[in-house]
Amino acid sequence: MPAIAELPRPIGLLAELTHRCPLACPYCSNPLSLESRIGELSAEDWRRVFNEAAALGVLQAHLSGGEPAARGDLVDIVRSAQESGLYTNLITSGIGLTPARLDALANAGLDHVQISIQDSEAASADHIAGYSGAFERKKTLAAEVVNRKMPLTVNCVVHRLNIGRIEAMVALALQLGASRVEIAHVQYYGWALENRSRLMPTHAQAERAAAEIESLRARYQGAIVIDAVVPDYYARLPKPCMGGWGRRSLNVTPSGKVLPCHAAESIPDLEFWSVREHALSDIWERSPAFNAFRGTAWMREPCASCARRELDFGGCRCQALALTGDARATDPVCHLSPDHRKVQELAALRDDSGFTYRR
Ligand code: SF4
Ligand code: SF4
Repeated sequence: MPAIAELPRPIGLLAELTHRCPLACPYCSNPLSLESRIGELSAEDWRRVFNEAAALGVLQAHLSGGEPAARGDLVDIVRSAQESGLYTNLITSGIGLTPARLDALANAGLDHVQISIQDSEAASADHIAGYSGAFERKKTLAAEVVNRKMPLTVNCVVHRLNIGRIEAMVALALQLGASRVEIAHVQYYGWALENRSRLMPTHAQAERAAAEIESLRARYQGAIVIDAVVPDYYARLPKPCMGGWGRRSLNVTPSGKVLPCHAAESIPDLEFWSVREHALSDIWERSPAFNAFRGTAWMREPCASCARRELDFGGCRCQALALTGDARATDPVCHLSPDHRKVQELAALRDDSGFTYRR
């Protein structure tokens, strides 16, 4: 474990204000076992968390869920994040924010809004979201955001059902007035892992999508920023998940548990501390979960002696657990992993029966 003085400082806080959400996306990053409303932190708890986060060096608060608008005290929460000096980004499904509430959020200092769009076509988008009429409501909210001159990001999660419409989704984001669009391939944790064989694109589709994104970037340069999250089952090297475990960000669940990443609770023997009992700095520096995979001392071969070990940190611990049963294993996405073949076999599984929706 590095000495406390040498620890990196986090820059981002993902605040999961609630797990409640009207939508039921089959790739939702929330855990399979959702936290209940009764155990949620209060607005006052969040005020303390934001103050402690700012003191720790955090610059951005990503207010997420579930659907953050399900919180009746969302305006107070945004105000306290803003007053603690954090840049505030609201990540919303687009359901539950009226124009009056959006005005109140803007007045409370909300800096940025991110709206998820499930597809460029209404019927498919509503089918994926598991909510009739969601697509039109998202478009309406996007217009309200842009009318208030608030910066807007459109987030599109890509999978087998919509991968052929990336160009149309980028065009929709432009039409809605977004300054940035995120084309994010599904990451297979939580609900997405349950639905992997229904969501996974083919290798050829993923390659075509990568080429298409490059050409769209060239076409729309200066008009909209296009960010992409790659489909790592078809990669040769893993992503540096979260920029490295316990290096750049922390995630606070609705009930106050602090996680190094949103899927970390899938690793069964980790001990997570709560903001109800510990200061955020204490959790960042000393909690067992944050120190479990920090740095490189925990690594085994082939990572332990690999030249890339401080670039990708051995990949994703949750993915290593999900695919090999061992959170300390090399992420099997890496071609040097003895389990790499398993990733290719799993990516080839197809099932076109209906989704298991998040409920
Ligand atoms: S991914 Fe879908 S179901 Fe999950 S929180 Fe976001 S909008 Fe709700
Ligand atoms: S062996 Fe480990 S450190 Fe090296 S590239 Fe693969 S995952 Fe990264």
